[in-house]
Amino acid sequence: MSKISCNIVKDMLPLYHDNVCSSDSQKMVEEHLSECDSCKSELDRIRDDIKIPKKEIEENKIDGKVIKNISMMWKRSRVKSFIKGVIISALLISFIILGYFGLFHWNITNVPTNVVEIKNVSEMEDDKIVYHAELTDGYSLNRIKYDMDDEGNFYLTPLRPIIKKKAQPPYGMSNGYDFFDIESQQINRDGAKIKALYYGTPKDKILIWKKGMDLPEASKEVENLFNFEN
Ligand SMILES: [Zn+2]
Repeated sequence: MSKISCNIVKDMLPLYHDNVCSSDSQKMVEEHLSECDSCKSELDRIRDDIKIPKKEIEENKIDGKVIKNISMMWKRSRVKSFIKGVIISALLISFIILGYFGLFHWNITNVPTNVVEIKNVSEMEDDKIVYHAELTDGYSLNRIKYDMDDEGNFYLTPLRPIIKKKAQPPYGMSNGYDFFDIESQQINRDGAKIKALYYGTPKDKILIWKKGMDLPEASKEVENLFNFEN
C-alpha cells in the first residue's frame, strides 16, 4: 500500500474533487488512488453525491416540473384567450345585430311635429274621432305610441327608427286617416277621463281634440274607410 493512510486521503478527497488542493497533494492523492480501490470508490461517491442532485435539479425540476408548469400555464392561457376570443366575437356579432336592428327597426325617435300635418279632424257616427295625418318629410311611419298623463292629456306619439325609410305606397300612418276611440281608451285606462288628444309629445305637440270642442261630422268617404261591415 502507499505511504499515506486512507484516512488522510479520504479527508483530502473533497478538496481534490473540487480542484482546490496544491499540486503536491494532488499528485499524492492520485498516486494513492491508483493503488487503492477503497479511496477510488470514495471519490466516485463524492462525484455522484454532487452530480445526482445537480441532475435532479436540472432534469426533473427545470426540464420536468418547471417546463410542465410553464406549458400548463401556456395551455391554460391559450384556452383563456380562445374563450376570450369567442366571447369577444359573440359580443361583436351581437352588437352588429343589435346595432342593425337598433338603427333600422327600433322605433325610438320621436317624429318632430314640424313635419306633421293634421287635417280634417271630424267625428264619426259612432263618436270616434277621425283625423288625417301626413308626415311631410317623405319618410315612413310604422308606430304610434299611446300615452296619457294624470291630467287626462292623451298623446299619440309617432316613433321612427334612427335610420328612416322612404315612405312607399300604401303610405298608411305616414299619410292617411286614422281614428281614435275615446270610449274604449277610457275603459282601458281604468275610467280616467281623457280631456285632450294630442299628436306628438308633451313638449312638442299638435292638438287634435279637447273636451268641449265641437267636431264636424265625418264625410261619407271617411266613414267608408273605417266601415268594415259593407
Ligand atoms: Zn486508500
